Amino acid sequence: MSEQKIPYKIYLSEEEMPKYWYNVRADMKNKPAPLINPATKQPMTFDELRHVFCDELVRQELDETTAYIEIPQEIRDFYKMYRPSPLVRAYCLEQKLGTPAHIYYKFEGNNTSGSHKLNSAIAQAYYAKQQGLKGVTTETGAGQWGTALSMACGYLGLDCRVYMVKVSYEQKPFRREVMRTYGATVTPSPSETTAVGRKILSEFPGTGGSLGCAISEAVEDATNREGYRYVLGSVLNQVLLHQSVIGLETKTALDKYGVKPDIIIGCAGGGSNLGGLISPFMGEKLRGEADYRIIAVEPASCPSFTRGRFAYDFCDTGKVCPLAKMYTLGSGFMPSPIHAGGLRFHGMSPTLSQLYHDGLMEARAVKQTEVFKAAEQFARVEGILPAPESSHAIRVAIDEAIKCRETGEAKNIVFGLTGTGYFDLYAYEKFNDGQMVDSELTDEEIEKGFATLPEV
Ligand SMILES: *Cc1c(COP(=O)(O)O)cnc(C)c1O
Repeated sequence: MSEQKIPYKIYLSEEEMPKYWYNVRADMKNKPAPLINPATKQPMTFDELRHVFCDELVRQELDETTAYIEIPQEIRDFYKMYRPSPLVRAYCLEQKLGTPAHIYYKFEGNNTSGSHKLNSAIAQAYYAKQQGLKGVTTETGAGQWGTALSMACGYLGLDCRVYMVKVSYEQKPFRREVMRTYGATVTPSPSETTAVGRKILSEFPGTGGSLGCAISEAVEDATNREGYRYVLGSVLNQVLLHQSVIGLETKTALDKYGVKPDIIIGCAGGGSNLGGLISPFMGEKLRGEADYRIIAVEPASCPSFTRGRFAYDFCDTGKVCPLAKMYTLGSGFMPSPIHAGGLRFHGMSPTLSQLYHDGLMEARAVKQTEVFKAAEQFARVEGILPAPESSHAIRVAIDEAIKCRETGEAKNIVFGLTGTGYFDLYAYEKFNDGQMVDSELTDEEIEKGFATLPEV
């Protein structure tokens, strides 16, 4: 036990910020399975991938041996505008819960885009710029990734074309305007502007869209446009790599006070914030240096880990992307329109999928009304209005802290607070009005999704 009183907020100096990203794949015995070309059924090569992604990002995507990759100076300078992010000791929440547990959260919502996604957006935009490209295309669900990418592109002077899931486009007009202010073009998806969008619209007229569908449109747009590449805000290895800044900062801050986490918790949509948060800890676990309990939290209505299959699948509804081996509900799975838009993806990061498959982490599915109860409780004592996605992690952190109250154990619980909920007030309104419901996901619906899995 450290004698030193731990401050409410543990900040790092600029000097203490990471200069390298950490690539957890280097320490994995069982590497994540390679992306596969759906036509040839062979692993995607550098040359195939570079039509879709920037060269340097393809290198990072395929690199499973280099443990530390230097963060370019320009990216580090950009990080300094909004990082290091604070690691907060949740004294107020602990007291309110009457728990002996020590709760810490890493808050990534302190930038205008409002989430951790900026950590990878700036990296991806930087490499596109380095390559002399004109612009990038992408999808956005709830809007956090599109906003982050728009900010990064606005800063570097790159064009940015965002396909935004139609329900979000309509529910969150203000997010759209933030993106447009940073210079992005925002199109509701599915749209009439791409072949795959037209096809989806004819099959599902009136659909509110999905992430998988917006990805297909953004990829088609990038591959048909000279000087453009596609960028993705989650799922991929390169994104987890960039997000490792979250975990590296967290570890440095905890080490300063001699605190060793017992449980590390994060919400999981495509797995990027959780992958980033746990990476240095998972590295120690893989090297046999330390042990941690790691819990991924997902919505009960989109339970990739807890009810999905570990199989090769498309990352998008239009089936234009390579196949990834991951925990998936099937690319044809259409999640119910819950309010945590950023967690409505049918698949999961191949890296996290492998770690989960190997028993190195756990997963839990939670219902949205329970999630919003946790969000409300947290907001009232810690002050921060959390994003619905982040509140999944809050739910399980509170549940674990309550267990400690029962057992009397003073465990160290660390969770990722990925963003703010300012653009989710429509969801909060539903909750406050008592109109939020939990939709039951039946085995039949799950089977329907599995039926769309490709034969590999
Ligand atoms: C996108 C998003 C998530 C989920 O994405 P991951 O890739 O799983 O991290 C979680 N929280 C917020 C605030 C987000 O914007």
